[in-house]
Amino acid sequence: MINAYTVIGQPIAHSLSPLIHGLFGQLTQRRVRYTRTEATSETFEAIVRAWRENGGLGCNVTMPFKEQAHALCDRLGASAARAGSVNTLQFHRDGAIVGHNTDGAGLRVDIERNLAHPIGGARLLLLGAGGAARGVVGPLLDARPASLTIANRTVSRAQRIVQAFEHDPSADPVPLSACALDELPARVAGRGGFDLVINATSLSLSGELPALPEGLFADGALAYDMAYGPSDTVFMNWSRERGARVAGGFGMLVEQAAESFQIWEGVRPKTHKAWGRLQELLNAA
Ligand code: NDP
Repeated sequence: MINAYTVIGQPIAHSLSPLIHGLFGQLTQRRVRYTRTEATSETFEAIVRAWRENGGLGCNVTMPFKEQAHALCDRLGASAARAGSVNTLQFHRDGAIVGHNTDGAGLRVDIERNLAHPIGGARLLLLGAGGAARGVVGPLLDARPASLTIANRTVSRAQRIVQAFEHDPSADPVPLSACALDELPARVAGRGGFDLVINATSLSLSGELPALPEGLFADGALAYDMAYGPSDTVFMNWSRERGARVAGGFGMLVEQAAESFQIWEGVRPKTHKAWGRLQELLNAA
C-alpha cells in the first residue's frame, strides 16, 4: 500500500515539498506518494475532505490556508493550538481531522542542531508579525532565550502576539516586548545588539530589506532569513556585511517537513544524510 499525502496552497506549482517528501520516503524506506494541490478559499475545505474520503492519510497546508486549516480541525495538537495556525493535517482512523504546526519545531532544529547556534540565553529579535512569526514564537520561547523582541511595521500585530504569549508557561521568565520597526534604532542604542535576528517578514520575497539600524548584531550573532531560494537574500547580504553569520530558511523548510513526516509515518527522516541531495533540489528548482 502507498500512503498518500499532498500539499495544498495557492500558488503551489513552485512547492518543493513533493521532492523533499519523496526523498524522505527513500531514506526511511516508506512507500509514500506526495503531490501538490491548488485550492481557493472556497474550495479548500472540500478538497481536504475529499482527500480524506479518497484514502489520503494527511496533508500539508501552506499559504494562504493555514488559518482556514486551523478552523476546520476536529482536534488540535498542542503546537497548532499555540500557533493559531495549522500546516499539517493528520487524518485519524476515528475519522477526526487533527491539526499540527511543525514550522516552529523545524526552525528550532535548523538553528540549534544544523547551525549549532544557541537560542537558549540569546537576545532574540523576530522581525515581522505575520503567520510565520506567530507560528514560531511558542517553540522559540521553549528554548528559553534571554529576551524576545518582536518588531513589525504594524506594531499592533506584534503586540497581539506578545499578549497571546505573555501568560504562556514558557514565557516565564523570558522578557517579551513588541515594537515598531522604526523604534529599533532606539532599542539597539539602549540595550546593545541581538544574538539572533530572525527575518519573518515577507520582504525578501520581493528582494527588499526592512529598514534596520546599524549596531543590530552582537558579536557572534546569527541572522536567519525564513525566506529561501538558490541565492542569498538582501537581508542575508546586509547582515553578512555587518559581521553576522547568515542562514536562509531552506533548512527550516526541510525540518518542518521532517516533523510532518514523523507525525504521519512515525519515523523522522535523518535529514543530515540527505543534505547534499536536498541542496541540489533547491538549486535545480
Ligand atoms: P504574512 O503575509 O503573514 O506576513 C508578512 C509580514 O511581513 C508581516 O509582518 C508584514 O508586516 C511584513 N511586511 C510585509 N511587507 C512589508 C513592508 N513593505 N515593510 C515592512 N514589513 C512588511 O507572511 P508569512 O508570515 O506567512 O511569511 C513570512 C515569510 O516567512 C515569507 O518570506 C515566507 O516565505 C517565510 N516562510 C518560510 C517558511 C520556511 O519553511 N522556511 C515557512 C513559512 C513562511 P505588517 O504586519 O505590517 O503587514
